[in-house]
Formats: sequence, C-alpha cells, structure tokens
Amino acid sequence: MNDVVHVRDLVKTYGGVPAVDGIGFDVAIGETFGLLGANGAGKTTTLECLLGVSRPDAGSVTILGLDPRTRRKELFQRVGVQFQEARYQDKITVDELCRATRALYREADDPAKLLARFSLTEVRKQAVESLSGGQRQRLFVVLALIPRPEVVFLDELTTGLDVKARRDVWNLLDEMRQQGMTIVLTSHFMDEVEALCDRVIILRKGRIVFEGTVAEAVASGPFASFEDAYLAYAEPAEHAESVE
Ligand code: ATP
Repeated sequence: MNDVVHVRDLVKTYGGVPAVDGIGFDVAIGETFGLLGANGAGKTTTLECLLGVSRPDAGSVTILGLDPRTRRKELFQRVGVQFQEARYQDKITVDELCRATRALYREADDPAKLLARFSLTEVRKQAVESLSGGQRQRLFVVLALIPRPEVVFLDELTTGLDVKARRDVWNLLDEMRQQGMTIVLTSHFMDEVEALCDRVIILRKGRIVFEGTVAEAVASGPFASFEDAYLAYAEPAEHAESVE
C-alpha cells in the first residue's frame, strides 16, 4: 500500500454536533496534501483524529499502515507534528527544548543543523516564551522535523510569519518534499496552498466539498483564481460564485 494516510467514514461529534461528518481521503507517499476550510470547518479535529489524540466516534484511520490509537508509540517515532498551540515547560530555552525532544527519538536529526536552517541559531539560548511569534512558529517546525519523520503534519504553520520567513519555510518544505517526505498541512493562505500542495480537500461543516488539485478546483467553475474557487466551496452563502 502506497498510502501514508488512509481515512474512511470518519465521524467526530462534540455534544451531539458533528465537527467531522463522515469524511474519507488518502494521502500518497511523497505527496503534499492540503486540508482546507473556514474557521470551524473541522481541520484541526481531523488532524487530531489522524494522530490518535482524539478518539473518533466512527470510521477508520491508518497512518503508515498503523492504527494511530493502538500503535501510537511506534508511529510517534516516524511522524512529525506541529500543532497551533504547542505546550512546553515554563522558562525552558530553545536549546533545552530541542535536546529534550531529540532524546525522545531513536533516529533524531541534529537540532543545531535544523535551527540553523530555520535561522534560529542566534536565539538558541533564549527562553522559548521570549521568542517572537514567527520565531516560535519556526521552532515548532524544527521540533516536528527532529524525529526525521516520514510524514509531517503541520497545522497553520506560517500563521504569524513575516513575508520572508514564510518564503523561507516554503522553500524548506519544498526541499523536504523533494527528499520524499509526505506533508499534510492546513492553511488559510491560498497562495501558500498553490505554491505547496499537490492535492487538497476543502471541508465545510465537517464534510468534504472538494477534492483534487488546485488546477482542478479553478477549472471546476467560472473562477479567476484558486482563492475564488476556494471561497465558492468553503463559504458558498457568502460568495456570489457559489458552486451550489
Ligand atoms: P480553525 O481554522 O479555526 O482552526 P478548524 O477547521 O480547525 O478551525 P476545528 O477546530 O476542527 O475547526 O473545529 C470544528 C468544530 O468543532 C468547531 O465548531 C469547534 O467549535 C468544534 N470543536 C472542536 N474541538 C472541540 C472541543 N474540544 N469541544 C467542543 N467542540 C469542539
């Protein structure tokens, strides 16, 4: 099986309200896959179910052929994760956090090399809480890469980055992709999605309303740009060029 991620009929409800409502998709090895949708559409909930952090009410998920809930330890060694709200100890420095993370993995990459690639060498002795928003965001990408993962999950990774830092992260992701890494990301920036993603799904109210490439989305209606197509799928009531 070449699928790194395999999802079928996934349902997750909170208080009887479905956050994810019966979705299914696959991510192939080496693919950069975008999980798109408006605020509250169900992207983070989907990621949490994929990673075994959240227990789905129904459906099946495998990552690298393994069930993330029963084979979590094994998967943990092979998967990199960057969440929007990462938790870390108070006062811990960048170096200390990287060392502590490295100690968790058998095949860990050299944090110093990764810090240099993400232009964080200068702040390595600083407390994580003293970093700027963009520096912290880049640090979380470094932490996700320390295990030398086969697949990496990135939740809105460029939110809060300045223009240059965003470009730098794109270039690094492109490099990772060329090295064969599978990347699953969420993003609210359609230029980023166009630059990075081989394929996307667009979620609306926990359901998949589009699956395909950026070019296929644009060609699926009278859209001048991918952003127009995205809006028509993700926010049809707000948008004149609704696909409904
Ligand atoms: P954003 O772009 O704002 O990050 P999202 O697409 O990641 O949004 P989710 O965080 O998955 O959306 O939320 C989907 C729905 O599930 C929302 O209505 C949210 O309020 C609800 N939800 C998510 N987590 C919980 C929770 N722990 N308890 C109750 N409701 C939740």
